[in-house]
Amino acid sequence: MSITTEDIAILGGGLAGLTAGYISGAPVFEAQDSPGGVASSDKVDGFVFDRGIHVLQTNNKIVLNLLDELGVRFTEVTRYAYIYARGVYTSYPFQVNSTGLPISLRLRCVRDFLRKDRLPPPGNYEDWIRSSVGNGFADTFLIPYSEKFWGVHPREMTFEWTGNRVPQPTTWQVLRGAVIDRRTGIGSNATFRYPTQGGYGSIAEALAARQSRLSLGHRATAIDLPRREVRFANGHAVRYRRLISTISLPEFVRLASPVPEEVRQAAGRLRTNSIFVVNLGIAGDLRPVRHWIHFPEPDIAFFRVSLPGHFVDSTTPHGHASISAEIAYHGTPPDPAAAIDRTIADLRRVGLLSDETRIVATSTADIRRAYVIYDFDRRAALETIHAWMRRHHVVPSGRYGLWTYFWSDEAMLSGRKAAQLVMTAAPERVAELVD
Ligand SMILES: Cc1cc2nc3c(=O)[nH]c(=O)nc-3n(C[C@H](O)[C@H](O)[C@H](O)COP(=O)(O)OP(=O)(O)OC[C@H]3O[C@@H](n4cnc5c(N)ncnc54)[C@H](O)[C@@H]3O)c2cc1C
Repeated sequence: MSITTEDIAILGGGLAGLTAGYISGAPVFEAQDSPGGVASSDKVDGFVFDRGIHVLQTNNKIVLNLLDELGVRFTEVTRYAYIYARGVYTSYPFQVNSTGLPISLRLRCVRDFLRKDRLPPPGNYEDWIRSSVGNGFADTFLIPYSEKFWGVHPREMTFEWTGNRVPQPTTWQVLRGAVIDRRTGIGSNATFRYPTQGGYGSIAEALAARQSRLSLGHRATAIDLPRREVRFANGHAVRYRRLISTISLPEFVRLASPVPEEVRQAAGRLRTNSIFVVNLGIAGDLRPVRHWIHFPEPDIAFFRVSLPGHFVDSTTPHGHASISAEIAYHGTPPDPAAAIDRTIADLRRVGLLSDETRIVATSTADIRRAYVIYDFDRRAALETIHAWMRRHHVVPSGRYGLWTYFWSDEAMLSGRKAAQLVMTAAPERVAELVD
């Protein structure tokens, strides 16, 4: 076994770990043979597929300057997003684009929106949805969609994570959207950026190219906390003074020793959904331009479909189009061949593919930990685990280290903050990172 000794070591080479490595110059240890984690892209027969839809929806100057410094070029895109419900495509967000809905449903949605202020203050995510958009929009889209997406009912969730993630329309926008089809775009991704070349994974690749020390193929298998030593499956080990960990908290707890029982139990209470992605490369085009579509109805396999070829041309070979369908699940992942067949069948049912469409490439990706579920156990469990990590000079970072709903820009910022913290401050200050 070879052992190296480091002042700072970083576990995980996704966007958070790579940003921490870029800022600190410390070594990054990544399990896979390529960097990027959830934000990487796969190249399949000339098509570029991300791990589920990925678009950059930030105006944060630090992130934009960093991306500029890395030389990643972006195309700015005006969003064309839709919802497919009751057999019709309606522009997203539904609340301000309801003209496509049957008239009786539209009237109910608008009436309930105007009465939403009569509802009691929210105590859970379901209440929050109802008091934000009214019962009509809630029952037609947001509640069934949430259930399909998270795999738990929104009444079992808090709403602390919502922030700007769920668009908040004005009364005027709702009324206008019920009578005029203007495709009103509100929300943080009404326009978005996407890398001009190489898919979303090109961000991680650019970061990886600027690391002073990136060790791929280094899967941590044991973390000895008193000795401050991480051992890897390939026989290497690293001793550290401080560790930044961007791997998921349940995995960290599983690998670490010793682990108090209360920490082990807390880790057992953390939940995410899982997402199985079916990618299709298609000969010809898929007009009209649509970037993504939400599918709230339970009899359709996927909850979301994106068309990467409509973001930028470079994700498909010339004269081709592509579709990525995301299926949420808990427990055992779908069988890949069955998931591809079911996806194609459902895409035909909703009119995105015809019987004549020629599919020239297929691939799948399994994201076992996708979106953190904000249930009522999360906060207390997190406090227990983070306090224990802090005592052992470990700084958690990233989406799954902080166990939060980070978009990629926020994951990068958390890596940056973790690096600055370990370079300048006492590990006890790590609590600041959690919020
Ligand atoms: C389906 C989906 C869609 C998304 N869409 C968007 C979007 O449109 N826009 C946006 O901005 N963000 C989006 N995000 C969020 C974005 O992908 C994440 O915030 C970001 O990629 C998280 O980066 P990270 O470094 O924190 O975590 P990760 O990417 O999970 O990185 C952790 C790394 O640790 C490695 N690792 C795990 N275990 C070990 C081990 N034992 N030893 C060594 N290494 C290990 C993993 O291989 C991984 O590379 C989306 C996320 C998902 C799941």
